[in-house]
Amino acid sequence: MYDARILLTLVVRENRMMRFCVVGCIAVVLWAPSGLFAQQAVQLPALKQEAAAEVDKLQTLTQQMVDEIFSFSELGFQEYETSRYATGILEKNGFRVEHGVAGIPTAWLATYGSGKPVVAFITDIDCIPRASQKPGVAYHDPIVDGAPGHGEGHNSGMAVNVTAALVLKKLIDEHHIAGTIRIIPGVAEELLGTKAFYVRAGLFKDVDLVLGAHVESEFSTSYGTGNGEWSGLVSVQYSFHGKAAHAAAAPWEGRSALDAVELMDTGWDFRREHLRPAQRSHRVIVNGGDQPNVVPSEAAVWYYFRELDYPHIKELYDLGNTMADSAAKMTGTTVDHKLVGSAWPPFLNKVIAETQQKNIETVGMPQWSEADQTLAKALQKEIGAKVEGLKIKIEPLAEPVKKPAGGGSDDIGDISWNVPMVYLMYPANIPNLPGHSWANGVAMATPIAHKGSTAGAKVQAMTALDFFLQPQLVQQAWDYFRNVQTKEVHYETFLGPEDKPAIEMNKEKMEKFALQLKKYYYDPAHGTYLEQLGIQYPTVRTKP
Ligand SMILES: [Zn+2]
Repeated sequence: MYDARILLTLVVRENRMMRFCVVGCIAVVLWAPSGLFAQQAVQLPALKQEAAAEVDKLQTLTQQMVDEIFSFSELGFQEYETSRYATGILEKNGFRVEHGVAGIPTAWLATYGSGKPVVAFITDIDCIPRASQKPGVAYHDPIVDGAPGHGEGHNSGMAVNVTAALVLKKLIDEHHIAGTIRIIPGVAEELLGTKAFYVRAGLFKDVDLVLGAHVESEFSTSYGTGNGEWSGLVSVQYSFHGKAAHAAAAPWEGRSALDAVELMDTGWDFRREHLRPAQRSHRVIVNGGDQPNVVPSEAAVWYYFRELDYPHIKELYDLGNTMADSAAKMTGTTVDHKLVGSAWPPFLNKVIAETQQKNIETVGMPQWSEADQTLAKALQKEIGAKVEGLKIKIEPLAEPVKKPAGGGSDDIGDISWNVPMVYLMYPANIPNLPGHSWANGVAMATPIAHKGSTAGAKVQAMTALDFFLQPQLVQQAWDYFRNVQTKEVHYETFLGPEDKPAIEMNKEKMEKFALQLKKYYYDPAHGTYLEQLGIQYPTVRTKP
């Protein structure tokens, strides 16, 4: 099933001035499996080394991508600048780009190469509301007060994947490697808003494996349910419709949509005691009416229902719907349910994880400078976290926990149940931070994020090469996927036939800040973003 026309040539660079190559031309036509493996045993380490060296050469571009996307600060479904920028780089470098995939304007698919295996890179691109923060400053100091910001660090992921993809493109061309590289953005991950739709649109139908990458403070990968800190979820917005009336003069004429929201919330909180301890559910009231003397005719509440597996998530979802319908009945209002997002708990592939772990060990942790450590410690102190600076050791590959406890969610879960996948955690942020806050943005346009992204890009490129050149590994990954992971559990989508991506989400919030944020867009002509903003690195409190 794999292209046996892989012609591998050993490229030797002896002279820095004159690049000449193909010295020991060992262009072997690889038909016999034994010849294939024997040949690759020699070739693969050299190719991986070359990939790492090429990633190093692209460090400036990686830094620019990290900084540029940080400065765009775009919320889920509104990642227009980010997508335009990333696809621009890829198109300029010969990638074929399909825009607006799965009915999502900011989603796209970039492809290079041909034939099998098809290796897809995926990483998130959206940011967090109210998380605007000056990089390199170890206390809360927004760039634009109240604006969105990369308080999750998603600005670094595309730098990791695009850098790795550009390097792979070069190697594919130079060494005539068969295989296809594909890049997909994780649009609206914070809303768990797109991956189930990607799956439904068939984006992974011909994909052999998926290498996801996510910012972390550590360098690690995992398989199965990993450390068990994943939940799946359904995110639903309930919009109640009542009848407006003068709240003092004729309240009996009105029907309050806000009453329905409050009754639903109260009902849910009473019921919470009788749910499994594994459930995690939370809500925000997105519309509570306009002013007290008008009976609110419109009100809306947005719930995340999290549990450990499909049947239990579905149960919570059904219960939420029952509560909403009952609250509507009690108040004489009506209600619409809108699914905003959904996610299966991720389950990651052991074969790919073991392969990736070796590359993490080869690449090793970035070399942190004293300034990097000073920033990390000052921020940890500032927020009252354990002060231990940046991590200096890689994490070993751990056995998955037997009993997952649950935690956050990521809609890559849906992909992981459709195609063998791993999730690389690359070390581009500071440990012990609260997540989803300004604090998580502090390091994200500094040398910490730049170096961590370079390290992540090396592992992405090297792992892709492992699978490009060892077709038996692709087979093994699928064996694990079919015979272990999906032996008893089969993917079913949470999406109903009428559900559509919530592409209108965050439009108003983004428009409110667009002009102000634009003033601070990164321009590489000024050096790094820190230099452009005139920020001393690191900036820490001088007085306690
Ligand atoms: Zn994330």
